[in-house]
Amino acid sequence: MINDLDSLKSEILKDMDSLSYIEIKQKYLSKTGLLTSMFKGIKDISLEKKLEYGKELNKLKKDLEEKIKEKEIDIKDINLERKIDPTAPFDINTPKDKRPHILDLIGSAHPLMQELEKILDIFQRMGFDILESKQIDDDFHMFESLNFPKGHPARDMYDTFWSDEDFVLPAHTSTMQNRALRRFGPPPIRVVLPGRCFRNEATDASHDHTFYQIEGIYVDEGISMGHMQAVIKEYLEQYLQKDLEIKMQPAYFPFTEPDVELVISCPFCDKVGCSTCGNKGWIELMGCGMIHPNVLTAGGIDPQIYTGFAWGVGLDRLTAIQRGITDIRKLRDGDINFLRQF
Ligand SMILES: [Zn+2]
Repeated sequence: MINDLDSLKSEILKDMDSLSYIEIKQKYLSKTGLLTSMFKGIKDISLEKKLEYGKELNKLKKDLEEKIKEKEIDIKDINLERKIDPTAPFDINTPKDKRPHILDLIGSAHPLMQELEKILDIFQRMGFDILESKQIDDDFHMFESLNFPKGHPARDMYDTFWSDEDFVLPAHTSTMQNRALRRFGPPPIRVVLPGRCFRNEATDASHDHTFYQIEGIYVDEGISMGHMQAVIKEYLEQYLQKDLEIKMQPAYFPFTEPDVELVISCPFCDKVGCSTCGNKGWIELMGCGMIHPNVLTAGGIDPQIYTGFAWGVGLDRLTAIQRGITDIRKLRDGDINFLRQF
C-alpha cells in the first residue's frame, strides 16, 4: 500500500509538468479520480496499517491541492499578462526591461492646438473674449442669421454636409456671430470664435473636408475699416513676429458689406518670392469686412448706432505656413511620425 503511495507521488510530479491544473484535478481528485478511489480503499486495509496509510494519504491530498492552487495562480498571471491592453503604448510581448521609459511615452499637443493657443493668447491680451463654435448647427445660424435668406444664390458657395434631420455641419465659424452678438451685447463686443468646420468638397494639398477657422467680431460705436485693418495687422504681426504690409482686395460674402480679402506681404521672403507665397511675394490670408446691417439686426444690435467688423481665418493654413507643412491633410491623418516632429 505504501508502495502504491510512492508510485502515485512520482506520477503526480510528472503530471505537474505535462498536464493542466484542470486535467490534474480531474485525474486525481474527481469522483472517479485516483486519489479519491484510494480513500475509498481505506476501509479494506487492516486496522494496524489503516492509521498510517490514512495519514499518508491525507498528506498527499493536501500537497496535491496546494500544488494545484499554485499552478492555477501561475496560469492566471500568464493570462493577465497576455490579455490585450489597447492602451499599452508598447507591444505587450516586449520584456519588461526593454519597454520604453514612461517619460518617453508622454505625448504633446497637436500642432493645430499649439498654434490655436498662441493665437487665442494674443487676442486675449488685446481684450477679446473667446467662444468656441458648435460642430453641428442649424440653417438659421449657418445661413439665415448671416443674411443668406432661403434661395439666396450665395448658399451655393458653401458645400455643406446636412443630416436627415436638417442639421448642418458648419462650413464656417460665422455660425457663431448671431450667438456672440446676443451673448456679449450690448456693445462693445470683442469676441474670437474658434472652431471646427466641414466642407463637402474634394481635397487637395491646401483644402481638406475638415479644418479649423478662427472667426472674430468687433462691434461698437464708430467702428470703421481702419479699426479692422489695425486690429488684424496687430494680431498678425504679433503672431508671425514680423512687420507686415497689408493690402485689401475686393471679395464677396453676404454677411459683410463691404467685403475684402486681406493680403499680407510674405513674412518669409519679404516680397521677393518663395515657395510659401508661390513666388508672388504676397499671401491671400483671410476674408473680412464690415458686418452687414441685417446681421447686426438679427443679433439684436441696432445698426443705426453701432458698426463692426468680422474676419475668418483658417487655422490649418496659418499652421502650415508657420511650420512649413506642404500638405494640410497631414494635420489630420494621424501619422505619428509626422506629429512627432512638432
Ligand atoms: Zn514668400
